[in-house]
Amino acid sequence: MTPEQRVPLAPYTSLRVGGPADWFVLARSGQDLVDGLRWARDHDLPVRIIGGGSNLLIAEAGVAGLVIKASAARVEVEELRGEPVLVAEAGANLANVARRLAKQGFGGLEWAANVPGTVGGAAVNNAGAFGGETAACLLSVTIVDADGARLKLGADELGYAYRSSVLKWRERGDIAVERVEMRLHRSSVEQADGLVKQNNAQRMRSQPRSLSAGSVFANPEGDFSGRLIEAAGLKQTRVGGAEISEQHANFIVNPGNATARDVYALMRLAQDAVYERTRVWLRPEIELLGRWTPEERAALAGKPVLSHG
Ligand SMILES: Cc1cc2nc3c(=O)[nH]c(=O)nc-3n(C[C@H](O)[C@H](O)[C@H](O)COP(=O)(O)OP(=O)(O)OC[C@H]3O[C@@H](n4cnc5c(N)ncnc54)[C@H](O)[C@@H]3O)c2cc1C
Repeated sequence: MTPEQRVPLAPYTSLRVGGPADWFVLARSGQDLVDGLRWARDHDLPVRIIGGGSNLLIAEAGVAGLVIKASAARVEVEELRGEPVLVAEAGANLANVARRLAKQGFGGLEWAANVPGTVGGAAVNNAGAFGGETAACLLSVTIVDADGARLKLGADELGYAYRSSVLKWRERGDIAVERVEMRLHRSSVEQADGLVKQNNAQRMRSQPRSLSAGSVFANPEGDFSGRLIEAAGLKQTRVGGAEISEQHANFIVNPGNATARDVYALMRLAQDAVYERTRVWLRPEIELLGRWTPEERAALAGKPVLSHG
């Protein structure tokens, strides 16, 4: 496990924008995660773990310290008290796992068959779709730290809320999710795979196919961010190479040559336009990662910018 210096991160994100990591390592095993965490600690550097990069907006100026991509992806189905349980390493691709399980007649994860990213990222973000969500299926996550200590936490210990958990908002990512266990049930191929196909079809109709990071803003209480952005007349609005999707206004797409700065500017534009019309402040669902200034972060969060004078 030897980190590489100045590695472009855009290829590791679904939006394909953003600058390099000062240091980067692909963690191909749980031990690599531990070694990476320890290396960062020994060098007194901040560390962040990423999965599929499908919920991230990485700053053009890159990410300080070490970025570890969790890519160990072994998957097994075990029995627990007669019931099937998915045991997956954090880097396993959630959608692929969900589809494969459905084809084997296991139910429980049909909702996830279109959710990009990894099993680990889903456990951190409480990913969900079509009425299902990670918190409802999760039996445990195993986290590791820089000393190689492992801790198995149940869903009730993870503070799950809408697209969030206690694992998400840490200043320094000094732990990593190594493994996830999820509850399955025996279904039939016909039923489980049928549901996957039904969900697929709905997705194809409602979501853009261009590069994106999924829903940009969380839905405000009792309304939909996409509806508010569309009502503000912003569909197909462009800043630089980034565009508010024609198909779904809560998606910002990168048809080819967008930058992180373009995506950020478009998010701010949508927030201001919607606020002006409705006094609703759209809260980002996408996570900013890397060298965004405190002012940029505060502006997006809708907080007053604190002066540092
Ligand atoms: C086209 C599209 C559609 C989408 N649709 C949905 C949807 O329907 N529902 C939904 O919930 N989301 C959706 N998303 C967003 C995204 O798929 C989820 O947020 C997903 O769970 C992110 O997983 P990831 O592995 O890509 O995590 P990343 O984006 O890489 O990281 C997300 C967070 O998890 C942390 N993290 C990741 N892996 C680890 C680990 N092993 N250990 C510790 N921390 C870790 C990161 O530090 C970061 O804080 C969509 C995205 C796209 C591009």
